Amino acid sequence: MAPDPADPAAILARIKERAKAAADFPLAEFAKLIDHDTKTVGGWISASALDVPPLVDALEAVLKLHRPVDDGAGAQCKGCATHVTFTRWPCATYRAITRELTGKEAGDGE
Ligand SMILES: [Zn+2]
Repeated sequence: MAPDPADPAAILARIKERAKAAADFPLAEFAKLIDHDTKTVGGWISASALDVPPLVDALEAVLKLHRPVDDGAGAQCKGCATHVTFTRWPCATYRAITRELTGKEAGDGE
């Protein structure tokens, strides 16, 4: 079965692949080669930059769901807690995002 191209993991994998290719591209060498073909190459490089806004939107959507609330029993995650569970803030999702963005752990939730 072929992977679903609309699967978020597949989308992120393609974005990571483009970002790595753009990061590895020798821009100094590219500057020496500006000619009629650069429009195509420039488009390829900028494709990676165009990936940034939807990634930020996706993270903002997740962070909007995973936020602290306190109904009197201590801070818990609005997105993770259910009517029968208590997920101490910061939750694992928030901590994972924070760790990847900052390189630091955000608290010691469960
Ligand atoms: Zn959460």
